[in-house]
Amino acid sequence: MIKTLALLVASMSLGTLVLCLMETEPAQPIPAVDLRAVGPDPAKAELPIVQQTDVPVQSVKWRNIIVHDAGREGAGIASGCHFIVGSADRFGDGVIQATARWRRQQEGHHIHVPGYDFNANSIGIAVLCDCRRARPTARQVEALVRLLRALQLACSVSPDHVYLHSELGEQGCPGGHFPAEAIRQSLLPAAK
Ligand SMILES: [Zn+2]
Repeated sequence: MIKTLALLVASMSLGTLVLCLMETEPAQPIPAVDLRAVGPDPAKAELPIVQQTDVPVQSVKWRNIIVHDAGREGAGIASGCHFIVGSADRFGDGVIQATARWRRQQEGHHIHVPGYDFNANSIGIAVLCDCRRARPTARQVEALVRLLRALQLACSVSPDHVYLHSELGEQGCPGGHFPAEAIRQSLLPAAK
């Protein structure tokens, strides 16, 4: 009788141990951005324009975001990009437009880097400002930050994959009046 009880207790303990081992957390996908660090998220305001596409957003494809201005490359850069941040005389000051390239999730045509096809996996944004001569307006900067954050959120792009064109070799795009540091500090942080 005692032996039976002892066996029973032993097997129950073993069962508990096995259950404990089985209860380890299942692997969870790591979120790409940590929203707790940024509080209420203004990026969400721009999510509709990011998500209103003709085909589903190919969030796995888009690995980089590249920012241009309309200075050195002219306003024509906009047609090769996925998003435009408008100016007072074109689309409206700080008004964000998605181009057909984005709505159809097509490759951009906004950058040329020998040896690596950035156009295949990089979202292009054109800010309609000649930053060689003037700073972008406050509304343009604010809109750009909201758009960058919305895109980071939608496509899991970490801040070190958000580039100015000049960081990938095109000197002077955007021009010297572009508030690069302020914008960099406004990006969503990388996942912990
Ligand atoms: Zn450029």
